[in-house]
Amino acid sequence: MVFAHDTEVALAAAAALVNTAGDDDGLRDVAALDEFVRTLGWTAEVRHDEAALRAVRALRPRLRRIWELDQDEVVELVNALLREAKALPQLVKHDEWSYHLHATPPAAPLATRMAVEAAMAFVDVVRSDELRRLRICDYHDCGNVVVDLSKNRSKRFCDDGCGNRAAVAAYRARKSTPAG
Ligand SMILES: [Zn+2]
Ligand SMILES: [Zn+2]
Repeated sequence: MVFAHDTEVALAAAAALVNTAGDDDGLRDVAALDEFVRTLGWTAEVRHDEAALRAVRALRPRLRRIWELDQDEVVELVNALLREAKALPQLVKHDEWSYHLHATPPAAPLATRMAVEAAMAFVDVVRSDELRRLRICDYHDCGNVVVDLSKNRSKRFCDDGCGNRAAVAAYRARKSTPAG
């Protein structure tokens, strides 16, 4: 494990959120947002509304910038996210989770919770000087963000199937090269 468990979960969630903003938008409507929140394993008894959807969609490009900025700029953005939400870190445990940090009250709007959870995780990344683990997928034309949590920093592709696509392309290229 590179970071604490809750940090790694939050980083993966932030990347998944950023990557919903493709040509085929993964957060097209409120139902898609509810489904996305469920797949993150967040409790989602509350149905979200158009305002929540707008706020979450507006958060995506801000979070994506964390993959593009240099360290000082990332710090500025992360601090802004925490400040705007008046984040107050508290250790809590609930459900099957052991002690971890929450920095927003449970009643905070969804986009605020997402922003702060991501920001808290990026705090760890910056403090460990590990921003290089945030990359863009190597597969041509993909553009998805990647969080490399592997020990040997070898993750090159996003979780959207690009690793398989690249393997297939490499196999075809080998087959079409005459032997000898
Ligand atoms: Zn929690
Ligand atoms: Zn990809």
